[in-house]
Amino acid sequence: MSDLPGVVVTGVSGRMGQMLVRMVAESERVHLTGAIERPDHPWVGRDVGEAMGGAGLGVTVESDPLESFARARAVIDFTAPAATVEYAGYAAQARLAHIIGTTGLSDTDLAAISAAARHAAIMRAGNMSLGLNMLLGVVRQVAASLDDSYDIEIVEAHHRHKVDAPSGTALMLGEAAAEGRGISLSAMSDRGRDGLTGAREPGHIGFAAVRGGDIIGSHQVIFAGDGERITLSHDASDRSLFARGALRAALWAMDQKPGEYDMSDVLGL
Ligand code: NAP
Repeated sequence: MSDLPGVVVTGVSGRMGQMLVRMVAESERVHLTGAIERPDHPWVGRDVGEAMGGAGLGVTVESDPLESFARARAVIDFTAPAATVEYAGYAAQARLAHIIGTTGLSDTDLAAISAAARHAAIMRAGNMSLGLNMLLGVVRQVAASLDDSYDIEIVEAHHRHKVDAPSGTALMLGEAAAEGRGISLSAMSDRGRDGLTGAREPGHIGFAAVRGGDIIGSHQVIFAGDGERITLSHDASDRSLFARGALRAALWAMDQKPGEYDMSDVLGL
């Protein structure tokens, strides 16, 4: 039995889930104590390392999170909104840190997560990369410096399997721009333009989504003025970037009091 703090990974068959299982299992600072999947998943009951096509890791994929959550200090969760809300309830019961990478959460989902955060430290970020979180500060600053004669447009590109749009990261960039401008994003955003849309509304923040191939994640924030254009961009070229950020967040959050946190808290930005 390892003395290292235990970490559970959910959605272990997913793209991020598999990356996280590998990273947690190889870490010298934490110990993989649980691997969770949905109840009807064919991996349930199998060793997670073998199910991933490699050597056994001595951890069986389970569908009931309660037991493994009770043995752990943190759970890292990149799954789907319904699953994440359920896991937040279990994290509150077991009083362990919940690291949420899942995107596409509704206002109702977020309210349920806030309720769980009364009993557990919950760190949620639509993007766990250091570079992107630094870019948020730059976007806020540029948006604060330029008036609304500069139109703000956010363009994001992701792989063909992504199910939500705009991406969680695009929305974070939009929030940063809106904060810089002192406006409310929900009241001033243009999403999904199609057909006879009319001219662009001054001061609005526009979103556009590209989906295709294996693009891991690419974001541009364009400030388009008369006669010039400023483009701030971030490209993720390796998914392990997000897993590294999530692991760093787990190590940080396991020592925090119950409450809601984001990546700027973890990175001390
Ligand atoms: P994915 O490959 O589709 O993996 C999702 C995993 O969650 C799958 O194993 C899926 O199982 C499982 N799952 C779905 N519903 C479940 C449920 N009700 N109970 C238990 N498990 C369930 O997707 P991905 O690319 O890894 O991304 C996962 C999430 O992370 C997405 O929301 C994505 O936008 C987000 N993400 C965030 C960041 C960040 O930095 N914050 C970075 C990358 C991705 P099935 O295959 O059986 O459905």
